[in-house]
Amino acid sequence: MKTIVIVGGGFSGTIAAVNLARLAHEPLRVVIVNASRPLGRGTAYSTTRNEHLLNVAARNMSALPDYPEHFLGWLRSRSEFSSLTDHELREMYVPRKIYGDYLCGLLATCQQPIDARSNVTVQTIDDQVVDIVVASDGAVQVCLESGESIDADQVLLATGNQPPGSFPSDAPLSHDPRYRSDPWHDWVSRLPGSGGTIVLLGTGLTMVDVVLTLDELAWDGKIIALSRNGMPPQSHFRGIAYEDYMPDNATELSLDQLRAIVQKHCKQLRQMSQNPAIAIDKLRPHTQRLWQNLTTAEKQSFLAHDAAGWNVTRHRIASSIHDVITDALDSGRLTLKTGTIHRLAPNEENIEVVLHDQQDNSFSEFGDLVINCTGPQSSFSNAGITLFDNLLEKGLVCSDDLDMGLQVDERFAVIESNGEPSGWMFAMGPLLKGSLWETTAVPELRGQAMRIAEILLERSPAEVPQQDVLEYYI
Ligand SMILES: Cc1cc2nc3c(=O)[nH]c(=O)nc-3n(C[C@H](O)[C@H](O)[C@H](O)COP(=O)(O)OP(=O)(O)OC[C@H]3O[C@@H](n4cnc5c(N)ncnc54)[C@H](O)[C@@H]3O)c2cc1C
Repeated sequence: MKTIVIVGGGFSGTIAAVNLARLAHEPLRVVIVNASRPLGRGTAYSTTRNEHLLNVAARNMSALPDYPEHFLGWLRSRSEFSSLTDHELREMYVPRKIYGDYLCGLLATCQQPIDARSNVTVQTIDDQVVDIVVASDGAVQVCLESGESIDADQVLLATGNQPPGSFPSDAPLSHDPRYRSDPWHDWVSRLPGSGGTIVLLGTGLTMVDVVLTLDELAWDGKIIALSRNGMPPQSHFRGIAYEDYMPDNATELSLDQLRAIVQKHCKQLRQMSQNPAIAIDKLRPHTQRLWQNLTTAEKQSFLAHDAAGWNVTRHRIASSIHDVITDALDSGRLTLKTGTIHRLAPNEENIEVVLHDQQDNSFSEFGDLVINCTGPQSSFSNAGITLFDNLLEKGLVCSDDLDMGLQVDERFAVIESNGEPSGWMFAMGPLLKGSLWETTAVPELRGQAMRIAEILLERSPAEVPQQDVLEYYI
């Protein structure tokens, strides 16, 4: 029987397994190996806090692209949502932990199928994959930290984002209780007392999660959030129908030409008293193709000049959450500051965060607790991940031209160091950021998970309805 090993059991690995289980015609063994984050939930959906909401409305969160109403149907089965109208349910921003329940439920159904005809077993292992070894006869072994190994016919890498980056520091911070390098590990037990200061490194979605929790806990100290642009995520809004304005030859255009087109439509929307973010949302069906046709220099230019604005515009938050952030800013409890973080200097009283402003002048902020909310580190090959260090060294994978993740071909096969696609190893999810740019949210990942299952099972693509991408984030 064929064995497919999936490395990583967050959304990507879990839903790839679910699709394998429902699409396989032949007997199949699927093994998900997952470590560090809870199986099925991954980083995004392992929060246990009610205030951490999805940033996409429930109507667009089905895990299965061919069943767009699947998540809504599941929500409807829960007693706490049964009295909501269809409209209320569709437009809800549900707690992320509930979405994690949905994913775990889907996985459990595959592991204990109620259909006696199922010939797929889905096994899960709680362990870290540290290496993949190919014997001279081509046999593939997936090696685990525990010393065990699994024979595999095919491997799918679904390991998610790189871990958060680190900062130069005057002293080791790993055992300093006043510093949290990973915002997804407990910091609530380390809160300073009343009147203390918390410094958040980053002003994006993770900063928002932390401020929401501090608000929920009624913590009454001062919060300072720092980043290069000092911009928090924008709020969702009710959009308008707007033309799909990208020309047919868009993939032949340079980044400058694309910028000019987008700017023209942003201006047009402003003149109509509409949010220019609509022009960015309209790019969604084209984004991956446009990105793939940019030169490496253009991609670098986009990352340097456009990516920060893109992120705050594209990855918006529910308006109820935006209100909490706005109230915290208005009351002075939260301050956003602009600067490049230079180093951290722990001292007896607190941790000094040394920054440079735009004129390169140095200034400092002081935190009784400092939490790293900067998101995944950007360099893939220097991230110090044992599995990828080993795979890169053996030439079984290559990083993409921007070193943001792995290089893959159009069938998601990883590209080996000889430039050829692997016959047995595939990758999906945030690992493909450098190759596809937008490959992080459920509306993209569910399509990938299904397509990859079809590829691994050598099935032709199903007629999946065009994803409801135009509604995304609106
Ligand atoms: C806080 C947050 C909120 C988000 N909210 C939304 C939202 O509301 N809507 C939306 O559409 N998208 C949202 N996203 C984006 C998106 O849904 C997630 O990024 C997505 O869940 C990614 O899933 P993944 O499985 O690829 O990665 P991950 O969730 O990171 O899962 C990867 C898993 O693999 C494990 N792993 C890694 N390496 C190994 C190894 N060597 N061996 C074994 N296991 C390994 C990890 O520990 C982890 O469990 C959010 C993302 C985050 C971070």
